[in-house]
Amino acid sequence: MSINAGTLFVVATPIGNRADFTERAINVLSAVDLVAAEDTRHSKSLLQFFNIATPLIAYHDHNEEARTPQLIEKLLRGQDIALISDAGTPLVSDPGYRLVKAAHEAGIKVSPIPGACAAVAALSVSGIPTDRYRFEGFPPAKSVARQAYFEKLHKESATLVFYESCHRIRAALEDMAAIFGGQRVAVLAREITKTFETIRKAPLSELLALVSEDENQRKGEFVIIVQGAELDEVEASVIQVDVDRLLEILVDELPVKQASELVAKITGIKKNQLYKKALNMKISN
Ligand code: SAM
Repeated sequence: MSINAGTLFVVATPIGNRADFTERAINVLSAVDLVAAEDTRHSKSLLQFFNIATPLIAYHDHNEEARTPQLIEKLLRGQDIALISDAGTPLVSDPGYRLVKAAHEAGIKVSPIPGACAAVAALSVSGIPTDRYRFEGFPPAKSVARQAYFEKLHKESATLVFYESCHRIRAALEDMAAIFGGQRVAVLAREITKTFETIRKAPLSELLALVSEDENQRKGEFVIIVQGAELDEVEASVIQVDVDRLLEILVDELPVKQASELVAKITGIKKNQLYKKALNMKISN
């Protein structure tokens, strides 16, 4: 740890309701030498509201490479700096990773001032298991890439957490319902802590119908929490893959009848069911 260096505070700001700003966050932002903010204009009005007069400097995705060494130098000279994003917790689908990493590497103390985070707020009211969850942030914007990405997640048994914007909420739910299945339970958490806060728990097909039929439900900011795949769903799909593969290999080497009898013995699946499958494989080989 650099003895004379300042501290980098990573400070959460509200995600809609200014009353969620914590006392510690206000005190730290008032006391530091500099606030590094994702959007200085946006943050200026928040800071003014709380009578915080600390100078602001821009720190965002487009200048972080150049800005990081400048901020590290100030910290090493003993200045305290607070990092904030437009809303919620910095680094959670927000800038800051590069700065925090560089601070660790320079032996600078990094201290969190925790507060709002849309993902955690949505999880806390979802009624979907939170013992294991996988935070995915924003799914890809383009449909083909998004579908391929959901395909890779569809057997995940942990709860899935996504961020989505009003522009793509309907398309994203459409792809989720198609790939995870319309019956998969999910929670749509819209405008958390704001006037039009809506928390809906329903199968994906119903959530899709809700946003398709009601234009108001497509407005604002969204977190989507999707229940993980059921274990037997995952196991069934593993068995399905194994059976096909097993049959394929045996059909190549043995008569259809013998191949299906052997696979029936191994898996417990009915012989005649496998026989039909094996016959099709033989024909298409
Ligand atoms: N760092 C932030 C956090 O801690 O949640 C997230 C920043 S990310 C750029 C913005 C996304 O977070 C939004 O598009 C939306 O998906 C989600 N989000 C932020 N505020 C929200 C709110 N009040 N209600 C629902 N979702 C919100």
